[in-house]
Amino acid sequence: MSVAHTRIRSPRHCPAEAVPLSSSSVAAAILARRPDVPVLCLRPAVAAAAADRFIRAFPGQVLYAVKCNPDPAVLRALADGGIRHFDAASIGEVRLVRGLFPSAAIHFMHPVKSRPAIREAYLRHGVRDFVLDSAAELSKIADETGGARDLGLIVRLGMAPGHARLDLSGKFGATAGEAAALLRACAAGAERVGLCFHVGSQCCDPSAWEQALALAGDVVRQAGVALDIMDVGGGFPVAYPDMRPPPPELFMAAIARGVAGMDLPRTCALWCEPGRALVAAAQSLVVQVQARRGAMLYINDGVYGCLSDAGALGFRYPCRLIKARGQSRGRPAAFGFFGPTCDSLDRMRGPFLLPDDVAEGDWIEIGQLGAYGACLRTGFNGFGDVVAIEAGDCPPEWPDTVPGAPRAIG
Ligand SMILES: *Cc1c(COP(=O)(O)O)cnc(C)c1O
Repeated sequence: MSVAHTRIRSPRHCPAEAVPLSSSSVAAAILARRPDVPVLCLRPAVAAAAADRFIRAFPGQVLYAVKCNPDPAVLRALADGGIRHFDAASIGEVRLVRGLFPSAAIHFMHPVKSRPAIREAYLRHGVRDFVLDSAAELSKIADETGGARDLGLIVRLGMAPGHARLDLSGKFGATAGEAAALLRACAAGAERVGLCFHVGSQCCDPSAWEQALALAGDVVRQAGVALDIMDVGGGFPVAYPDMRPPPPELFMAAIARGVAGMDLPRTCALWCEPGRALVAAAQSLVVQVQARRGAMLYINDGVYGCLSDAGALGFRYPCRLIKARGQSRGRPAAFGFFGPTCDSLDRMRGPFLLPDDVAEGDWIEIGQLGAYGACLRTGFNGFGDVVAIEAGDCPPEWPDTVPGAPRAIG
């Protein structure tokens, strides 16, 4: 698996109002190179602008969830947009962020960590905040930090399955009763105590946060502990062809209502941990069509590459055709994709909307792939290579993710 990095053009900023309504620099780069490997296109200014918008909208501290897209170029773009806090889930992510940003605040937000990971994070990388959802993890953290008194200990509260496209309930999280007991145990030795939850990824229902905060309020009252950190997690949604989330203000308003109902100490900090919402729009993938059979296109990337979520999870992504020769005169039609490996699971049902004259040799730019795209790639079957480019263009809204526009067929 290898990534060749090329920078085609990289101005520092997109004008705040996404101005040039053209994606010509990506299309021009593709037509100049005519690549037969997938091309990851990063628009750093889009990531920086998304981070800046989120930070302005959220009334607290914004931690970026590194797992969503750990590409150093993406992390640097987010830092350009104002991100200074990182949610790391592994020692690999802690090392990556520390290597790039010597003074960033790194928070270890995985409820189950290896002992050496806890030790290294605390002793070598200045990590002080750790998440836990069990008494066993609390004693691991105490052991491996030598009973440190300068910790922030944050209890992960479990959620009922609910509103999100990707349900995260069931794997992590303490029940309300357990969380109250853990909060009290943490308060006995920690410098700061907190509560966190994750409503599930791509959660389009703002009331999920309000309900989670109501439960958090019950836990805090039951524990009788003064909370220092209330962390409302990630899960903030972006638009896909079949999903138009409500505007971000409604999520912020639901969080504000939930927090108001909790009666928190004035000194309590509010945190969130978005991943998808900060990076989805910043990266696209250009694939080449290697064969067309009716409404199925055989493309050179798939579920073992950057398109994992288009497989079993059935995510749909906006698409733009880059014709190998001439201009497209086609009308929109629905296509499915086969990925390049020999595995029959390497299939993406979509449907993906493309002009009906798409043909072998053409390229397709697939949008909204900055979140949970490239980071899930494998080298299976010898197809791991991608080329990465940085594009300076601000693309127009993808045709089928414009709020209020009619839904794509299918
Ligand atoms: C994955 C994850 C996030 C980010 O979730 P998004 O849905 O991408 O916003 C935040 N916090 C934790 C603990 C996670 O596991």
